[in-house]
Amino acid sequence: MKRLPITFWTTLFVTLVCVALVALDFQRSWLARKALLDQTTRNATNLASAMAGHADDTLRAADTSLADLEERIEVDGTGTPQLRRLHGLMATHVRALPQLNGLFFYDAAGRWIVNSFGAAPPGANNADREYFIWHREHRQAGPRIGKPFASRTTGKWVIPLSRRVDKPDGSFAGVVLATVDIEYFRQFYAGFDIGGKGAVALLTNEGTMLVRRPYRQDRIGSSIAHTPLFRAYSRVATTGTGMFRSTQDGELRLNSYRPLRTYPLFVTAALSTEEVLAHWWRDTLMRTAGVLMLAGMLALFGWRLVRQMHRRLQAEQELREARDALASLNATLEKLALQDGLTGLANRRQFDVSLGNEFSRATRHGASLGLAMIDVDHFKAYNDHYGHSAGDDCLRAVARAIREHTPKRAGDLAARYGGEELAVLLPNTDVAGTEAVAERMRAAVAALRLPHAGSALGIVTISAGVAAQVPRRGIDEAGALVERADRALYRAKAAGRDRVMRPVDLPPG
Ligand code: GH3
Ligand code: MG
Ligand code: MG
Repeated sequence: MKRLPITFWTTLFVTLVCVALVALDFQRSWLARKALLDQTTRNATNLASAMAGHADDTLRAADTSLADLEERIEVDGTGTPQLRRLHGLMATHVRALPQLNGLFFYDAAGRWIVNSFGAAPPGANNADREYFIWHREHRQAGPRIGKPFASRTTGKWVIPLSRRVDKPDGSFAGVVLATVDIEYFRQFYAGFDIGGKGAVALLTNEGTMLVRRPYRQDRIGSSIAHTPLFRAYSRVATTGTGMFRSTQDGELRLNSYRPLRTYPLFVTAALSTEEVLAHWWRDTLMRTAGVLMLAGMLALFGWRLVRQMHRRLQAEQELREARDALASLNATLEKLALQDGLTGLANRRQFDVSLGNEFSRATRHGASLGLAMIDVDHFKAYNDHYGHSAGDDCLRAVARAIREHTPKRAGDLAARYGGEELAVLLPNTDVAGTEAVAERMRAAVAALRLPHAGSALGIVTISAGVAAQVPRRGIDEAGALVERADRALYRAKAAGRDRVMRPVDLPPG
C-alpha cells in the first residue's frame, strides 16, 4: 500500500479533534436540555398531583357539610325550630371551612328557605338556576358541581356544589347548595412558583374552566372543550403530559393533567418550556461560541502547521533531487575523466591507476598479473589511404572487438594506451591465459574483415605482445611488466604482424 504523507495524517488528526470537540459539546448541550425538560415534566406532574389532592379535599369538606344538611332536612323536616337549628349549623360550617362561601336550602319551588347568612332577600327565588333545574329533573343522589357564577348574596365568584333533597315518597323537595369560593383556590395557586409564563387551572370533566392562574374573571365558566389539551385529557381521562399551545394566551407550555379522585374535575399544571430553556439557551450559545472559536483556532493552527510541513517536505524533495542530479553529474564526470572519448575504453589515466593497484594486489596475494599490449597493424597507411576520420571509425571498431573479448571479472580492464595502441590488464591470469585472451581478440579483429588497402593481408589486423608475472615484493615493478609486453609486441610486429607473442625470456608452453 502507498504510504500516506505526514501532512495527510496531521490534517486528519486536526480535523478529528475539531469535529470531536464540536460533537462532544453538542451532545453535552443536548443531554442538559433533555435533563431540564425531564425535570420540568416532573415538576409539572408533582404540581398537578398536589393541586388535585387539594381540590379533592376542599370539595369533600364542603360536600360533607352538604350531605349532613340534606340528611337533616329529609329526616327532621322543615318546621320553624328545625329551620332555626339548620341556620345555626350552616353558619357554624361556613365559619369553620374557609373555602365555603355560603350554604343554602331552596324548596321545591326554588324559594329561599334557610341559608348560612340569615335573612333571605325578600321574594328571592332560585328556580332559574341551572343546578336547581338539573336536580329537579334528575333523581340521582350525590353531589353535583355546576357552572361557576357570581353569588347573589356576596357578589363573589363561586363554584356551586349541590345535592337534591327528597320527600319521604321520593319526590322532589328542593336543593341544598354549597358555594365554594374561587378566591380560596386562587390564593392556594398563588403560592406556587410556576415562573412568569406558567399556568395552572381547575376544570370540570366537561371542559368548563373553574379557576385559572393567571386569573381572568371573564374566563371563569368558559369552555375549553375544543382545545387540544382537553381532547388529550378526555381521550384518556387520566394522568398525562403533553406540549400544548394555550388557547387562553397563545403560550406554548408543557402540560401535566390529572383527574380528581372523587369529583368529575381535573387539574392541569403547565410550565413554559421557553422560559425553562431560556437559561439553557444563553448557556449553550455562549459555550458553543467558545467551542467554535476554539475549534476555529485549532483548525487555523493545524492549517498553518500542515502548510509549514508541506513546504519543508517540498524543500527536502528539491534538495534530494538536486543531490541526485549532482551525484549523477559527478558519476558522468568521473566516467568522462576515466574514459577515452573516442573508443569508450578506459583511458590512459585509469589504466595507470589500475595497473598500480592490480600490481600491488598481485604482489600481496602472490597472484599472476597478465598484460597484453595491442597495436593496429599498418595504421598509418590506413589513415593515409582512407583518411583520418575513417581511421577513427576503424579504431572504434577494433576497440569494440577488444572490449567484447575482455573477460568480465573484477579488475579486468581494456584501455586505450595511446594512439592506436591498446592495453588489456588481466589480474589472476598467467601468461598462457593472457595469450589466449589476446589471441581471441586478434581473431575477432581479423574476423571483422575491415578492408585495408595498405596491408598485405588486405584487412585490418592487430598484433599483440603478452606478458605475465607473479610480482616479487621490492624487486619487480609495474613498468617492467609493460616494457616486457611491449617488447613482445615488437617481436610480433617483427615476426610479420597479425599475431600474439610472448617476450623472449619466456619460452612458449
Ligand atoms: P605498425 O604496423 O608498425 O604499427 O605500423 P603503423 O603504421 O601502425 O605505425 P605506427 O604505430 O608508428 O603508426 C601509428 C599511426 O596511428 C600514427 C597516427 O597517424 C595513427 N594514429 C594514432 N592515433 C590515432 C587516432 O586517434 N586516430 C587516427 N585516425 N589515427 C591515429
Ligand atoms: Mg601500429
Ligand atoms: Mg603504434
